[in-house]
Order: sequence, then structure tokens, then C-alpha cells
Amino acid sequence: MIDSQSVYRGRRAKILATLGPSSRDPETIAELYDAGADVFRLNFSHGTHADHAASIAAIRKLETERGRPITILMDLQGPKLRVGPFAGGKVVLQPGANFRLDLDPALGDEKRVCLPHPEIFAALTPGSALLVDDGHLRLHVKTCGKDFAETEVIIAGVISDRKGVNVPDVTLPIPAMTEKDKADLAFGLSQGVDWVALSFVQRPEDVAEVRAAVGGKAGIISKLEKPAALDQLDAIVELSDAVMVARGDLGVEMPLEQVPVLQKRIIRSCRKRGKPVVVATQMLDSMIKSPVPTRAEASDVATAVYDGVDAVMLSAETASGLFPVRAVATMHRIIKHVEGDEHYLALMQAGQGEPEHSSPAAITAAARQIAHTLGAAAIVTFTSSGSTTLRAAQERPDVPVLCITPSLTAGRRLGLAWGVHAVVGDFIHSVDDIGDVAVRAAVKAGLGNEGQALVITAGMPFGKVGSTNMVRVVWIGSETSAS
Ligand code: PGA
Ligand code: MN
Repeated sequence: MIDSQSVYRGRRAKILATLGPSSRDPETIAELYDAGADVFRLNFSHGTHADHAASIAAIRKLETERGRPITILMDLQGPKLRVGPFAGGKVVLQPGANFRLDLDPALGDEKRVCLPHPEIFAALTPGSALLVDDGHLRLHVKTCGKDFAETEVIIAGVISDRKGVNVPDVTLPIPAMTEKDKADLAFGLSQGVDWVALSFVQRPEDVAEVRAAVGGKAGIISKLEKPAALDQLDAIVELSDAVMVARGDLGVEMPLEQVPVLQKRIIRSCRKRGKPVVVATQMLDSMIKSPVPTRAEASDVATAVYDGVDAVMLSAETASGLFPVRAVATMHRIIKHVEGDEHYLALMQAGQGEPEHSSPAAITAAARQIAHTLGAAAIVTFTSSGSTTLRAAQERPDVPVLCITPSLTAGRRLGLAWGVHAVVGDFIHSVDDIGDVAVRAAVKAGLGNEGQALVITAGMPFGKVGSTNMVRVVWIGSETSAS
């Protein structure tokens, strides 16, 4: 165990780093972690099960070496639609041309290509838009039947083998998970991933379907990237354990100018319900090729942090870019600098809703106020399920949230949450012990010095989920503690 790595990182917003060919070797994984990656994302749209198993083994080994829980997120591809292959690999579509999509598996040409998804044809209507290759091409449906659509090319360009297709205006009559997703999920759960992200969530029932399949073995992140999901945003957030603002596909399916507004709306909905929220895609996109980001990208990360997101994500920057470790280090520096702004807390807390009318919420809000008044070193939460800690994080207090849990699973999952530094300790049986345990853990994490207060929240008796019912103050280095 390397103790210097077990101290608090000194920032509240977390960093998700996607692994891929540029970064999935054990040495780079360790460098990414040491540079600030809190959560590793395995993208099941790419890579083999053997690749992902090797990444998971390397992360778990690192976790043992560093002595800290590390968080692993598997991202399911979801119902991503793709056209079939072309005879020459690609064709150029001209503006105003007719182009047909159908179920015929024959190789495509400039007149037609296969779209091997019968359910899509059933859902299309004349006027529906089909966006190809991240929206680079736009086709409008003129006529359609159960196995074809005749379209007009509105935005022209090159279309090539297996390019992605988005159908924004239609709620697709397809299940939340494909056969591939089901097989990937079973594999990921058997490997002990902490979070499962579901792509292209369209309706609350999709989240329920995945929850049944996950069976409590991991937390569920709904990726918001379909207009239909935004129509039922609050219901989807309510049913999810966390949410991702998946700006890549969202920016294809919705007009781009709506993405910043939607980002803020999704963040508000999540913060109100205490669900961790991640902002994803193109955050430091230019760092795929360049050792420094653009100023606009630095501002984009800063905006998300000022809005109080739990985590910001790196995709291709770390998965396939030239500077994976620099991208994480850059993000770390931007976050730290924003959080050091004297106006940061006030700006971020402006997005804070009223606590709900329940005693756990009221007690947690009181703990935040006490920590503020006393200039405490940290709020220390004792939890077995993670719920007491998530409540404290939802309050976005002025101070770090130290989580002490007997559950490695809970500690790992909390790696995604705002401000939380989780340590795994023995189960505490007596309330008399919590002051001493809290002080020892805070000092070890580098979170507190002699003479500083710690504000403790917990649910008594320990082990009962969702029962946050006490708050207590202890002073580091002092024998006396007041309730
Ligand atoms: P993806 O999801 O990278 O898996 O497509 C994120 C996004 O769409 O922004
Ligand atoms: Mn996506």
C-alpha cells in the first residue's frame, strides 16, 4: 500500500477516464489513476471481452496496491443502428438524390444500402429524418413500408460501411438492451463492475428492464442522448442511480444549440434528486491529437464544475488519443482551479434545491450548516449502503465528504459521487466508537488537523439502509466531543 496515494485528492468533481488502445496497459492505467482518474470506463462498443477482463484485472491489482477503492464503469453499446457494407466500401451521395434503405443484405451502392433493423422501418413515417455518421449526412423519408424507406438526400456527403444512423424524431419500438448488451452485461457483472451505463435510454421502462437484469449487482447510469428521454427526464432520473449527459449522440439527435441548455436542465434534475450526474464527450477533444486543449474546452470543463456536476468524462482523449495521461492531468488542474475560485461554492450552491421533507434530508442539511459554521475539516459519513454519503454529497457542502464504510462495493460505487473520499473500514458496532474512528480516518486521509472539527452523520443502528438519523461533532486531537 502506498500511503501518499490514499490521501484526499483535493477536489470535489470526479474524473472518468475511458480505457482503450492508448491506455489499457497496466502501466498507463496506474499513471491515469495517479494523475487523477477516479473512475475507469470500459466502452463495450469497442474491444473484446478479453481486453476488458485484462483492464479489470489491472485496475483491481492497482486498487490493492494503492489501498483505495477504485471505480469501474461498463458502458453498454445499446441499440446503436448501423447501415450495412457497400460494394466499394463507400459511396458519395449527391444533394437531392434518392437513396433507399432496406433489409436486403446485398452490398450497397449509390442507390441503396441495407439497414438491418426491421423495427426501424415499422416506426418511420414520411418526413422522418435519418442522420448518418454523427449527423454528417441527413436523409428525409419520402415513402416507407415494412421493409424499406425511400429517402431524399438533404445533407450530402460520403457514406461508408457500417456508419451509425440516428433517428431522432421517433421513439424506437425496441428493447433497452440488444442480445449483445445482454451478453456483455452478464460478462461485466461476473467481473464485478461497479456501474453499468445504458446507452440510448428512451423511456423509464428501459431503466426498469436493465435494473431487473442487473439485480442489484451494480449501479445503473442512464445515458441521456435521445429526445424521447428528455420528455420524461424526471421519471428517468428518479429510476436511475446516476445519469450521463451523453452530449455526443445528444448533439446529433437534437439541434446543437439545445445541448448546453439541456446539460443544465439534466444537472438540475439530478442534483434535486441526489443522483450523481456525469457530463460526457468532447470535453478536451483536441487533446486526442494535441498536448494542450483549446481555451474553449477548458471553459467547457469549468462550466460543468461550476454547475456542480459529480463527474466529467474523457472518451477518445484517453481511449485512443496521443496524450491520455496529460488529458487527465489537465482536467484535474482545471477542476482544482475552478474549485479554488472564491465564488465557486456560491455559484454552485445556487443550483441547490430545498431539502426534501424527511428527517434524513433535514439532518444532512443541518450537518452541512454545522460544518460551514465551524469551518470543519470534513463531513464524515458512516454508511453500509452508501445512502448517508450520497445525501451528504447532494448537499454540496463547503468541505470534503469522508465516507467510512465496511462495504468495498459501496466504497467503489461512491467513487463517482461529488466530493466523496471513501475508505473501507471495519463494521462499527457501537456509536461510542465513531468519534475515534472518524478522527483517525480523517487524519490518515490528510483531511484534518489538530483543533479542527469533524461533523459526523450516520444512521443508527448501523446497517439499516436509508436511515440517516444522527449528527455529531468531534474535534481532532481533543478528548471532548459534543453531540
Ligand atoms: P458514447 O456515449 O460515447 O458511448 O456514444 C456518449 C455520448 O454519446 O456522448
Ligand atoms: Mn452515445
